[in-house]
Amino acid sequence: MVDYQQIISKVYHDVLRQENKGKVPDYIPELACIEEGKFGIAMTTLNNFSVEIGDSAERFSIQSISKVFALAFVYEKLEEKLWRRVDVEPSGNAFNSLVQIEADNGIPRNPFINAGAIVICDILLEICVDPKSEMLTFIRGLAEDDQILVNETVAKSERQNSFRNSALCNYMKSFGNIRNNPDDVIDLYCTLCAIEMNCNQLSKSLLFLANEGKNPLNHQQILSSSKAKRINAILLTCGFYDESGEFSFRVGLPGKSGVGGGIVALYPQHYCITVWSPKLNSKGNSYRGMKFLEAFTTQTGESIF
Ligand code: GLU
Repeated sequence: MVDYQQIISKVYHDVLRQENKGKVPDYIPELACIEEGKFGIAMTTLNNFSVEIGDSAERFSIQSISKVFALAFVYEKLEEKLWRRVDVEPSGNAFNSLVQIEADNGIPRNPFINAGAIVICDILLEICVDPKSEMLTFIRGLAEDDQILVNETVAKSERQNSFRNSALCNYMKSFGNIRNNPDDVIDLYCTLCAIEMNCNQLSKSLLFLANEGKNPLNHQQILSSSKAKRINAILLTCGFYDESGEFSFRVGLPGKSGVGGGIVALYPQHYCITVWSPKLNSKGNSYRGMKFLEAFTTQTGESIF
């Protein structure tokens, strides 16, 4: 049997000894204040064995990892109709790229680029009475923690600097793929990005995707197994923007990153693991997060391939 505890500890210390390259993003001023040296890891297995190390209990801005929760929530409600408004192809472009939307007639390439998540937020505004609180309740239920909150300072900072996201939203509105007021859509998008969670909460809350849609901790069926399989497929091909191929090549697991420095990765039927380190590489993914997960799956010898 693989000794996860021993491998996580070894790889954590190996990565810690190496130079911490990259840069904390500054286009959301509040995120630039974070301490660069933070580094935490938490893994939870389907049979509720967990391993934590470093700053695993410290909350950070989940940013684009929130796109996974929003997709799961909306997909369960809309079923396959969802794919009329957002595609499932890797983008090969930056996460906030405007160019592709023109060529694709306002249909975002996938739900994990900003344009796709903005459409998902538009749908949330259509199907929920109070999308912010319904999404928080959903995430709190998955993590079994009522203390999960939005950092309003980060949300505000993001709203004040959401020029590109607003441009994407307005552009898609011109194609008829946004139904609500673009300001309301961007407000919800920024709110969800500004949710704070720690590595342990993230690993627990996305475990259902490693368990055919069922939360193994409370046996609640969150999604059908077919939908969980499809979300994992999109995570594998689109979870890391235009570095998705590289992550799949180096790590071999479906996963999702956020510009807050978090990465969540899943090994279906086995575990969910979260790494947090705020310095990002040039593609917007955590530098140490990528390093850690590459070495981790190499040393465990486990991946989906
Ligand atoms: N709030 C960020 C943005 O819209 C999310 C991007 C990310 O985490 O990758 O730019």
